[in-house]
Order: sequence, then structure tokens, then C-alpha cells
Amino acid sequence: MEYGVEKFFDLTPELLCVTGTDHHFRRVNPAFERTLGWPVSVLLDHTLLDFVHPHDLDGTVAQLRTLRDRGASIEFENRYRCADGSYRQLAWHAYAEPTAQLHYAMAHDMTEAALDREQLHTAIEASPMAMILVDQQGTIEFMNHVAEELFGYTRAELTGRAIELLVPDAHRARHATLREEFHRAPSARLMGARRDLVARRRDGTEISVEIGLNPIHTAHETLVLSAIVDLTERNLAARRIAEQARQLKEANARLTEIAATDGLTGVWNRRAFLHQLEIQMQFALRTSRPLSLLMVDVDWFKAFNDEFGHLAGDAVLRQFAAVLRQQARRSDYVARIGGEEFAVILPETDRGGAIQLGERFRQAIERQVWSRRAITASIGATTTRTAVDQRELAPDWRSELLTSADQALYASKTRGRNRLSHADDLHAPPPDGQTPA
Ligand code: GH3
Ligand code: MG
Ligand code: MG
Repeated sequence: MEYGVEKFFDLTPELLCVTGTDHHFRRVNPAFERTLGWPVSVLLDHTLLDFVHPHDLDGTVAQLRTLRDRGASIEFENRYRCADGSYRQLAWHAYAEPTAQLHYAMAHDMTEAALDREQLHTAIEASPMAMILVDQQGTIEFMNHVAEELFGYTRAELTGRAIELLVPDAHRARHATLREEFHRAPSARLMGARRDLVARRRDGTEISVEIGLNPIHTAHETLVLSAIVDLTERNLAARRIAEQARQLKEANARLTEIAATDGLTGVWNRRAFLHQLEIQMQFALRTSRPLSLLMVDVDWFKAFNDEFGHLAGDAVLRQFAAVLRQQARRSDYVARIGGEEFAVILPETDRGGAIQLGERFRQAIERQVWSRRAITASIGATTTRTAVDQRELAPDWRSELLTSADQALYASKTRGRNRLSHADDLHAPPPDGQTPA
């Protein structure tokens, strides 16, 4: 050997051998012994077929027959027995040298890659998620039982078929293009993120899905492992939850209403009144719109109760509240905030409006037909600007507002009852005709 190239034969990790057409080993390189554990001397006593896994024997025999009959070269894979009884996956290239009646064969040890594949299949099978393993050409190599159930196919039906079988007709061409794009730059990612993906089941029905793509690099190619989540299930669950939330909200709204309503009269109670006052105050402040408040108190009501009894008194309170409700505008907020004391919040109403509306209430009460004796009411009115500075809400704005309304009410009482006073006018005599006695 001029350059000592024979050295390559000794050093290469590839398994190199020369056999006769009877497949008897004539020459094997040291890699055979290093890889399989058989001493070279033992190998030379056997044929190449003696170590082939029984299940792969027919295939290997057929390949070698082709080589012998047709010459040239062949490629095949088989499992090959080691001295310790285990098998290794070998990929063979064999060449015929017809004139010399010899075969030259080289084997590459594929065991690690092949083992990976088997472990991969086991892992995929164990996944609780539908998974399909697809090769670079888009051919389904493996799918787990969850995917079988999801798509309604058995794996026998799908293995070796194109993945596009699971894509609705309308999307097939595009899917193939996207698949090729993925292989140009494979990375783990969601398929069609934020787009509605649809898959086709065996029975032709379409399901909404989310698909995660994971490239799996093997020695020879890049496979794609798709993990598929059935969104129809998830969407159904989401809809069920939304419906329950809606029902809960409705039930809560009813509960809140019950908790906010005065049991005797059906108008809002004190708690709801304070809550609403807060809301309206904030609104008035933000929009620089006026807000007015009326305090309405039944005159001489203790005496009424004393004379006609508590039940008759209750009936008066119910009727009284009903009158206030009838007279109020839709946006007004009537509440019973004490025994025989009512309040009306008048959003977007200035002093003039408050006096006008308060008068309407007062007169309506006065004109009602009451069962036992006439009932009158005294009213105190206030408008936000008189109570708080609209540009800046004082911390005790609420008590200021309530106090000024109370003071106006008190003024109406001391001035003779059955009348209305506005807080703005407390320190000046009321104009003629505004508060008829
Ligand atoms: P004024 O004109 O100064 O308002 O006199 P008044 O008697 O109405 O006022 P006072 O505050 O002295 O008495 C309020 C009375 O309201 C005491 C009570 O008999 C009556 N009252 C309070 N709550 C209820 C109720 O729920 N039902 C009935 N029937 N009466 C009530
Ligand atoms: Mg009273
Ligand atoms: Mg009172």
C-alpha cells in the first residue's frame, strides 16, 4: 500500500467487510469487533447472515440475492447480534465485484438513532394530549391513541398517509406550503397563532383545534411532532362557565336589590341611598353638573301613630313612598332613610329644579286622599354648590350635604311645616309664593 491507506480499514468506526457470494466473511475490519464484540477470528468462521435478527433475515436474504443476481450496489437495514446477545441497528451499503465473486459491505451503526425513535414513540403514546409524528415529507409516521380518538382514525389507517388528510379541503394546499416553510426554519411554536385552526375528522366533521409544533432532529432528518388540543371541548367549557357567571350575576343583582330595598315601602333603603349618593356625587364632580338632594319628612307623624295605631301609620308610609315614586323622574332616586323620613336624589338638577320638584312632591302629598286624616310633608332641599366646592371634594362632603339638607328641612318645620326650604335661602327670607303655608 503506497500511502498506507490500509490504515483506514483498521481505524474507521464503520464496519467494513468482504464476503464471498456465499456471504461467508473473508475479511472484517477491527470496527466489527469493537462494535459487536465478536473477535475477528469468530466472524471469519461465519456468514454475514448468521448474526442477522431472525425477523430481519428474510429481508436481508432478499437484498443480498438481488446484489448477487443484478450486481451493482444495494442499501438495507437490519438488527445485528452482538457477542453479549443484544442487537444493534445497522445500515448497510453493499457492492458486488462480479469478476472476483466478492461482495464489499459497509455497515453504519444506527442503534442510538433507532433507539431514540422507539423512546420517542413510547413518550408520544404516553401523552394525555393528541400527538402526531410527521416526517419531512408530511407523511404520518406515528400517532398516539388520543389522536386516534380525536380524529376517528386508527393509526393503521393513517400511518404512511399524508398529514393533509386531517386538514379540511379548503386549507390543504396552504397547509402543505406552510409545512415546507416550517422545515426551512424549524422551531417549537404554535401553529397559526391567534388564528382559528380547523381539523377534519374521519366522518368529515370539522373541529376547532390548537396545534403546537415541535421539531425532532434525528440523525437523518427533522421530524415534526404536533400536539393537538381540541378547542371545541374547551370552548364548550368556556361557554358553560360564562353562562354560570351570567346566572350568578343575575342572582347577585336580585340579592343586591333585595338588600337595598326598604321592606315596608319598596323604595331604596338608607344603605342604598348613601351608596347612590356617593356615585352621583362623583359623577357631578367629574362632569361639573349640579346635584340636588331633598329630605322629605312626614309632619306630626308621632301624633298620627298615637291616634290611629302603628299599622295605620305603616299604611301611610307605604302610600307616602308611592306618591314620591310617582312624582319622581326616572333619573331620581327615592329612598326611605329613617322612620318617617325620605330622601330624593335629583341628579343634574340645580337649585331651581330642586325647588320645583320639591314643590311638586309637597303638593302631591297634600292633595292625596288619605284614609284617616290629611297628611303633609316638610321638605329640605340642597344643591351641591351650596354644600361642597365642586372643584375639590371635601373629605366630609357627604355629611355636609346631608347636614345642609337637614337644616333646610328643620327650617321648613320651624316655619310651620308643609313647606319647602332650600339651604341656599336659609339666611334670607324665602321669596313670596315659593313656600305656600
Ligand atoms: P315632625 O312634624 O316634627 O316631623 O313630627 P313627627 O311626629 O313626625 O316627628 P318625630 O320624630 O317626633 O316622630 C316620628 C315618628 O314616626 C315616631 C314614630 O311614631 C313614627 N315612626 C317612625 N318609624 C315608623 C314606622 O316604621 N312605622 C310607623 N307606623 N311609624 C313610624
Ligand atoms: Mg316627622
Ligand atoms: Mg322625622
